[in-house]
Amino acid sequence: MADIDTIFAFATAAGKAGIAVLRLSGPQAGAALRALSGRLPTPRHASLARLHDPRSREPIDQGLILYFPAPSSMTGEEMAEIHVHGGRAVAAGLIEALAAMPGLRPAEPGEFTRRTFLNGKLDLTEVEGIADLIAAETASQRRQALRMLEGEAGAIYESWRARLLRAQAKLEAEIDFPEEGLPDGLKAASARELAELRGEIEAALTDGRRGEILRVGLQVAIVGPPNAGKSSLLNALARRDVAITHESAGTTRDVIECALDLKGLPVVLADTAGLRDTDNAVEAEGLRRARARAASADLKLIVLDANRPDEAAALIDLIDGDAIVVANKMDLHPRDGAAWADKLGAGAAIRMSAATGAGLAELEARLAEAAAARMNAASSPLITRTRHRHALEACLAALTRFPDAVLPELAAEELRTAAQELGRITGRVDVEDMLNLLFLEFCIGK
Ligand code: GDP
Repeated sequence: MADIDTIFAFATAAGKAGIAVLRLSGPQAGAALRALSGRLPTPRHASLARLHDPRSREPIDQGLILYFPAPSSMTGEEMAEIHVHGGRAVAAGLIEALAAMPGLRPAEPGEFTRRTFLNGKLDLTEVEGIADLIAAETASQRRQALRMLEGEAGAIYESWRARLLRAQAKLEAEIDFPEEGLPDGLKAASARELAELRGEIEAALTDGRRGEILRVGLQVAIVGPPNAGKSSLLNALARRDVAITHESAGTTRDVIECALDLKGLPVVLADTAGLRDTDNAVEAEGLRRARARAASADLKLIVLDANRPDEAAALIDLIDGDAIVVANKMDLHPRDGAAWADKLGAGAAIRMSAATGAGLAELEARLAEAAAARMNAASSPLITRTRHRHALEACLAALTRFPDAVLPELAAEELRTAAQELGRITGRVDVEDMLNLLFLEFCIGK
């Protein structure tokens, strides 16, 4: 297909480096390689070559070249890789030479992966796995992304869809050819199969959002009255200066975030504005955001000044099962050892001092425990994105409506919807699938 552009781009980050890798994909990839190096190497074998700009014969670099003929390449198209020295002038020379060749142009963001998907080499969940793997910052995120990339989730969604399509094919056959009839045993088996499938999907949906939380990190909002020591606490946890501590109240007007790796689990801490009543419009907006952030967080660190029990009242509504109460500034020796703070939440308050670091280890341990409870489990969660969850919920809703459908046509429509929602997750929605199955399984009409 000569009308497809051949795209090229460096796969490695820009800047000085030992090596930079440029990839090409499209019908002219091999021709471009030959124009630069004077030859086409043995497929999938690295070979050393001198690279020239074909227009001027000016040498660009000496590097490794690789050739991957279609269709056994990542994108499914003809591909080439050029490994050169990672310098700016080398990169510029190579890009200029390639851009001058007919049919070649720089790739757009994600275009290699897009072509890979369009050529059926990866499904959407695998594509998402690539994105997640590149974004992974902790070991557990990496493991989850790899499972996606290796098609674990995609295979489950596809097997569910295949079961739905089979049930649908049987039902459609009965509608189209009623005189042939389906044996009662087959109908019962079909109903049992669908009920089982419903159970499996329900089980996947009741996962506590572990996969989604792990992918983006456990969202922890640090909330509390102004000057309780929220920013100091964030800094102490992050062990670097990400938030500015200040003597005057109301300095943290917006949300400051910092990502932590707690025993392999990703945690995103957000320092919010101090919660108190205010007439200042800017500050009031900060407070609104702080409350919104707290409401949407997976976990809240309620930070209180151990010496000021009166300030707790403004936050009492935020303390629930997802809150950890922290009594800060214990180094100032509050009355009764801040016994009042223990009464606020379900468990004892964590006593600490962001100034001296006392109690920080206990807080870290509690955070790690809370993170593990919300992200770890014996079985890996299937769902890693809201997109998957919405489609699965729609699929389940259709399956739940299915037994109540008053006409076989309407029942078949529910199955079609359910299968389509699953196909949306993997990106493989295709009515042809259903038709193929129908004619494969039932040689009706002869
Ligand atoms: P925020 O408004 O809640 O973010 O509070 P900051 O972190 O900005 O702290 C307010 C003030 O309290 C600053 O002067 C901090 O140095 C001080 N502070 C924070 N934590 C402690 C602590 O544990 N002990 C003492 N003595 N002072 C603290």
